[in-house]
Amino acid sequence: MKKEREELVDKLLSNGYIKTDEVRNAMLKVPREEFMPLENRKYAYIDQPLPIGEGQTISAPHMVAIICEILKLKKGMKVLEIGSGFGYNAAVVAELIGSEGHLYTVERIEKLATSAEENLKRNGYNKCVTVIHQDGTKGFKEEAPYDRIYATASAPQVPEPLKEQLKICGRLLTPVGSHNFFQELVCVHRVSENEYESIKLGGVAFVPMIGVHGWPEK
Ligand code: SAH
Repeated sequence: MKKEREELVDKLLSNGYIKTDEVRNAMLKVPREEFMPLENRKYAYIDQPLPIGEGQTISAPHMVAIICEILKLKKGMKVLEIGSGFGYNAAVVAELIGSEGHLYTVERIEKLATSAEENLKRNGYNKCVTVIHQDGTKGFKEEAPYDRIYATASAPQVPEPLKEQLKICGRLLTPVGSHNFFQELVCVHRVSENEYESIKLGGVAFVPMIGVHGWPEK
């Protein structure tokens, strides 16, 4: 599947989703099929979201590229992800922050948290990634503050705890908007202790972020 991975990365590069060598190399390295259910692995290098069970999806590769480019991840950073799914985006981020960095990834569905943990371990990412099973709208206070926080599920507004758990000069990226339809990717920059600047980066479609500071469970 290496050839298909190279072709997909080339396409993401020529479409402008991948902009840097760092993101290119990380996406070339991580085998996306390893972070998918067996029955869907044959579709791993099609640029689209795919089901991972529990009504959830693995994000499309171009969305992972967009997130990683906007976050400007550097070696050694401490990062928080909300929504582990099967752990693919986490593995790409782990490549970007290196063994000197650490990613904490929070997943609310226990079965998915277990799968993410197994997939990350099998592929050698267990030292620099910790999977936590809980409501990620509360962030993960135990390890705060973070250089970067990103969510791969969409909230009605930016969850306050995530803003509070950012380092000064840190960046937060999250989709915000309606439950199932139009959402916008929002990037929040913590300028000082009490000052935040946010910019809207355009329309996206993510599964809902369900939790105390997100959407209510139905
Ligand atoms: N990062 C994943 C995307 C998975 S889809 C990837 O690499 O493909 C988004 C995930 O967010 C789902 O697994 C869903 O269960 C999870 N999620 C939704 N609300 C959440 C919350 N409050 N806390 C943690 N995870 C949440």
